[in-house]
Amino acid sequence: MEINRPINSENFYKINQIVCKTSNWKVALDEIIHFVHTFYIFDNLAIYLFDRNRTNLDVVYAKAMGRGKTGEADVAWGESLANQVVQEARTILQEPPGENKDRLQKPIILGIPLQVEDQIFGTIQIVRFGTPDFTQDQVHYGEFIAGQISLLLKQHQLTEQVESYKDLLNSLQVQEDFLSTLSHELHSPIGYIKGYTTTLLREDTQWNKANQNEFLKIIDQETDNLKDLVENLLDSSRLQSGQIKMNFQIVRLDALLNDAIARAKLHHPRMIFHQSVNPSFKPIMGDARRLAQVFDNLTSNVEKYAPGSPVFIRIEQNDEGTKIFIEDHGPGIPPEHLKHIFERFYRAPNSSSEVHGSGLGLFICKQIIRAHYGSINVKSELNKGTIFEIFLPGNVR
Ligand code: ADP
Repeated sequence: MEINRPINSENFYKINQIVCKTSNWKVALDEIIHFVHTFYIFDNLAIYLFDRNRTNLDVVYAKAMGRGKTGEADVAWGESLANQVVQEARTILQEPPGENKDRLQKPIILGIPLQVEDQIFGTIQIVRFGTPDFTQDQVHYGEFIAGQISLLLKQHQLTEQVESYKDLLNSLQVQEDFLSTLSHELHSPIGYIKGYTTTLLREDTQWNKANQNEFLKIIDQETDNLKDLVENLLDSSRLQSGQIKMNFQIVRLDALLNDAIARAKLHHPRMIFHQSVNPSFKPIMGDARRLAQVFDNLTSNVEKYAPGSPVFIRIEQNDEGTKIFIEDHGPGIPPEHLKHIFERFYRAPNSSSEVHGSGLGLFICKQIIRAHYGSINVKSELNKGTIFEIFLPGNVR
């Protein structure tokens, strides 16, 4: 070890480079400490930071570099000095008084505040067991290192804060979008219902039977839409809080899928389905009604977001469980939205105005599949299509 290497501008430069260029603060700290140790003698080094309430100093980093001590035990060497350093807001060099026979019992500790501007947020304790004493230059160099580490930690803290603000903003934005989607989704059926009811009630006009039927069908359809929306809202909050109990029974998934296909075709006769089911396929334990809800949602999403595309349904089974693939050859989902689509209220922005929806469907699917101890994932490629993969563990023999 080149302990006599002079503290020169090259050392300052190298430390500054580590601070500026390393994104992970722990990696950067390790690099700094190992580099400094090549020319600056110390046995232990510990960094204390205030906890969230600024009441206690917690050790966030400790390194034992030599002379027969373990890192954990050594941390205690600096603790009382750490408190003194932050209270007095200054560098303190604590040297053992008199002749020191057992040097391990009487360390020399250099305690330096970690601070940016006027705010002290912790300390760094540099410990030597026995000689040599810290020279004035070395104390100053210790302060330089503390300054660089302060900048490093502050930068890390600010990055974390920015990330948490981004998350907060994102969730506020999602809520905001949801409220506007919800208002729109409520407003439009209520508008139709009110409009056609008023029309039917008008006394100055006589509607023939065919017209009356047409208007009533629209009212009926829009009432169903409203009912679905309210049910989805209720389901999503009950599933979120675990209030919905699954009613497990033996279920034939192929039959459930066939029913879902029949329902989809009833509403959208032009939809085309291709199925591939292994003939030795076995039934599973599940909640038939809830699983049907998942399939209905996935097929209705194909109709909404990949109109005109055929739907390819595949079931695979092995000893671990059953996989169901629901695939379309539609426009796909942009990668930046893909990771969010199972979140409650999330809608990919380009879809919000063109197609009806509340951003609850896939969230509900995920909760239902989770309640079956399974998983649901999505893969999508722009202009190629989207594939949802459901895994349900276990099967019935
Ligand atoms: P909703 O349909 O009510 O908006 P979902 O939770 O069912 O809510 O879907 C969330 C979003 O995922 C949709 O807004 C849409 O942007 C996207 N999406 C879902 N399925 C598909 C699909 N098959 N192809 C393209 N985008 C899809």
